[in-house]
Amino acid sequence: MARRYCRDENECRFILDTMLGELARWLRILGYDTLYSRVYSDKQIINIAEKTGRIIVTRDRGLYKWALKRGLKAVYVRFDDIRGRLAELIATLGLNPIADPARSRCPECNAPLTIVLDKERVRDRVPPGAYEAYDVFYLCPRCGRVYWEGGHWRNIRRVLEEARRLAEEMRVAEARRPRRAQRKRRRDSGEAGEG
Ligand SMILES: [Zn+2]
Repeated sequence: MARRYCRDENECRFILDTMLGELARWLRILGYDTLYSRVYSDKQIINIAEKTGRIIVTRDRGLYKWALKRGLKAVYVRFDDIRGRLAELIATLGLNPIADPARSRCPECNAPLTIVLDKERVRDRVPPGAYEAYDVFYLCPRCGRVYWEGGHWRNIRRVLEEARRLAEEMRVAEARRPRRAQRKRRRDSGEAGEG
């Protein structure tokens, strides 16, 4: 089931279709280079993937089949919730995402964040409560937004743990599935059969 699209985590670069905005934010927070725009057309997504080798992640079966026909790397997500979608990427690509704000990219613009060593520098850009409560802040060099490891990171880690568990269940279920059914499923989803 796992596809060897990326040999290591740093090679996993994505482009997402217009329906996957929330997933784009999550992938960036988890440190993956992820292109996303609400105004991308399918053709633009195909073109960018062709030029850059990015993995297309889509909820659109037509785009998925088109991408495979062009020999591009593509993943079709079936789930509607973020936990399920992350689990599908973990199971399908063999991803090993790590929740660490020091590795994050800006969820808004995809630039890698830089750590702020002197928090005085960002005093006027964060709420006073957060400024008092935290010592480490992260700055987006592209859009200027400032981030810190607030309470929402507990939720990020919890959801990621749940996604890992679900991915493991998916792997087990896939391994138990009779080979004929596996082939049929691949045919139905437009994937190339593997024998
Ligand atoms: Zn940014």
